[in-house]
Amino acid sequence: QVAEAGGDTIFGKILRREIPCNFIYEDEVCVAFDDVNPQAPVHFLVIPRKNIPQLSKSEDTDEPILGHLLVVARRIAQKRNLKNGFRIVINDGPIGAQSVYHLHVHVLSGRQMQWPPG
Ligand code: 5GP
Repeated sequence: QVAEAGGDTIFGKILRREIPCNFIYEDEVCVAFDDVNPQAPVHFLVIPRKNIPQLSKSEDTDEPILGHLLVVARRIAQKRNLKNGFRIVINDGPIGAQSVYHLHVHVLSGRQMQWPPG
């Protein structure tokens, strides 16, 4: 998938409620929902409402949005009682195995993670 300026993605459709999706959190800047294909017992995504296709295409002025995504990830992790930790992943571009070109933060937990990742 090629990222285009203003290009639409499945997450754009989710944000516009064109595709049903159960939000576990939402505010004026971002929404969060469970991943449809979970890679761990806990696997949710935090995405900005703004259509930032990928981290490397974000701008310096996006800094408050980028920070907010992590703050919200931490808040949800606390609410879900992920006391033993979790993993945050942002895939960027083909090398990073990004498949949906709307920026998203993966939060994974509920099983032991390995390092380095594959
Ligand atoms: P990426 O590889 O781009 O970092 O991750 C995209 C993620 O979005 C994948 O983990 C995939 O399972 C998830 N995903 C793709 N389409 C949908 C969808 O329609 N609904 C939800 N909830 N997750 C999706």
